[in-house]
Amino acid sequence: MPKIYRLGEYAEALEGVSLIVGEGLCSNIYVVGREKATVIDTGVGNILNPVWPQLSELGVEPSNVDKVVLTHAHHDHAMGAFLILERAGPKVYVHEEDTRYIASRLGDSLVKVREGDVIETELWPLNVYWTPGHTSGSMSLYNQEHRILFSGDTVFPDGYYGRYDGESGSYEATVESLRKLDGLDVEFLLSGHGSPVLEDGNRHIDMALRSATRWS
Ligand SMILES: [Zn+2]
Repeated sequence: MPKIYRLGEYAEALEGVSLIVGEGLCSNIYVVGREKATVIDTGVGNILNPVWPQLSELGVEPSNVDKVVLTHAHHDHAMGAFLILERAGPKVYVHEEDTRYIASRLGDSLVKVREGDVIETELWPLNVYWTPGHTSGSMSLYNQEHRILFSGDTVFPDGYYGRYDGESGSYEATVESLRKLDGLDVEFLLSGHGSPVLEDGNRHIDMALRSATRWS
């Protein structure tokens, strides 16, 4: 069973945020709040990553799932949403550029979002930053007050960044997106794969930007 972390045990600003670590080819799942939880990315939704038992361990039952936000529509982040929708009725927030992969299956649950939108959670608001490159509709979610960035597959710890060789990927867009995120004040970098960064997230984003532009 994948590991579950209550990130508030590591940093006060992350009180109420939990991380369900993806097992195998599966994204991390972040859970913001508990009574009216927002689930950020949902994993691949397979036997190793069953979503509901993991949410239940955090005290999040079907009636507690208020929103699902997908940082992009790749299946290792998005398929778990369909397990969630089997038992609960949250709206599913996807950047408008990525909805073509998933709109027909989400039906009325889909909410299209774009740069500048604000997604309210039980704890605090999340600002939507459009960060294409890994996919054309990749987005990052930022809470300014606590300096938390959910970066999906746009940027990872230790100077890594998302692959841009997929169908709607773009190297140029990746660099621009890393530049955009580099302009934010980030302490906590919570990415789609890998460990959470609990200190000086900006250093990691800066490393990724420098690494991505080294040859250009
Ligand atoms: Zn991806």
